[in-house]
Amino acid sequence: MDILIVGAGPAGSLAALNLGKKFDVKIVEEHQAAGFPVQCAGLISDECYESLRRYSKKSFVNRIRGAFFFSPDGNFVEMVGKRKGVVIERKILDVELLSKASEVAQVWLKAKYIGSSGKVARIIHNSEKKLVKYDYLIGADGANSKVASEFDFSKPNLYPAVQVEATFEPLDENMVELYFGEKYSNGFFAYAIPLESKIARIGVVSKTEPLNHLKNLIEKHPSVSRRFKGSFLELNAGIIPIGLNEIAKGNICLIGDSAGMVKPYTGGGLYYHLIAAEILGESFPNLELYKKRYLKKMAREYSIGSKILKLYSILSDSDYNELVKVGKDIDFSKLDMDHPSSILRILPTLVRKIALKPGLSVKVTKNLL
Ligand SMILES: Cc1cc2nc3c(=O)[nH]c(=O)nc-3n(C[C@H](O)[C@H](O)[C@H](O)COP(=O)(O)OP(=O)(O)OC[C@H]3O[C@@H](n4cnc5c(N)ncnc54)[C@H](O)[C@@H]3O)c2cc1C
Repeated sequence: MDILIVGAGPAGSLAALNLGKKFDVKIVEEHQAAGFPVQCAGLISDECYESLRRYSKKSFVNRIRGAFFFSPDGNFVEMVGKRKGVVIERKILDVELLSKASEVAQVWLKAKYIGSSGKVARIIHNSEKKLVKYDYLIGADGANSKVASEFDFSKPNLYPAVQVEATFEPLDENMVELYFGEKYSNGFFAYAIPLESKIARIGVVSKTEPLNHLKNLIEKHPSVSRRFKGSFLELNAGIIPIGLNEIAKGNICLIGDSAGMVKPYTGGGLYYHLIAAEILGESFPNLELYKKRYLKKMAREYSIGSKILKLYSILSDSDYNELVKVGKDIDFSKLDMDHPSSILRILPTLVRKIALKPGLSVKVTKNLL
């Protein structure tokens, strides 16, 4: 049985790693290497990191113990949840994953998937046209997936993002900083992820104008602007596809960003890709089963994650200021960055604390309950 995987990002390589021992797998990647261009902050949970260490040992950059949640007025609350985080270097992770995948799959680099006729794919490989027969086609070709559009899979919502690597003084080099407020993002948030004591990845995900919001963050945020030291080491732009859609049809399936497999409330994709690849490996060649099992495991998390995402568009700056004030008395130790449903564990306390702010209370309860 021949499987053609389009895309050698983490989703494509993880799919190959889970399928390559049992089936004939070929991966085609349009670039000359995996991990190019980098479009990731590299923050994953320690659990996700441990699972990826089976395949990648050199991508570690920093340990993260929690997050500072900043309101627009510059105040912040410390959130240290159940699960810790790890910052990784995506360029290294992607290369290592693909190298492992190449032990069980054939890899064609500089090979662009153009389209299919029947079960034959047209590929431009090193400037030559090639035809590749397949029994199953897997679209792991990212947020702007050619496979998804060619086969009419429904599309996730696309949130643009920009990120710089820059000299910055984090409040704590093992804490992520999250910045909320309409100046810094439209409908999402901005962040700083420390790589070491004086360097951080600073980024914005926003429904509109992420670059302008990033500029505001760096120049006007009451806390960030004082600690930003002015020099950019790297600038990336990317897209976060949000909203789980169809993932399988006939002999074709999607995995990773092509299928909107990211946490709707953070944009983090790697943990979901890891889970999807394992389920795909266990279910293949029954793609309906892949779809069913993935949805069974993840539907609740998507549903709650999407409700949190919706709140980002509903809460005003003064709501965020209020949330940070009451947040100082909340125990966040049960929160789990990979499982948005864990927010339900703190919801009763939160609702009690904001009861005297009827507007905010209605927004939170109406959306999360
Ligand atoms: C700014 C930003 C920050 C992020 N931060 C985090 C984070 O901290 N933690 C986290 O978990 N996630 C994060 N994410 C999300 C994460 O980066 C993605 O979920 C992940 O990269 C998606 O992997 P993928 O393999 O599905 O797609 P991609 O990484 O996009 O890989 C797709 C591959 O397919 C190839 N391809 C595309 N079309 C073709 C074609 N026609 N033929 C051949 N090859 C093709 C591309 O060249 C690419 O190599 C972030 C995303 C952004 C934009």
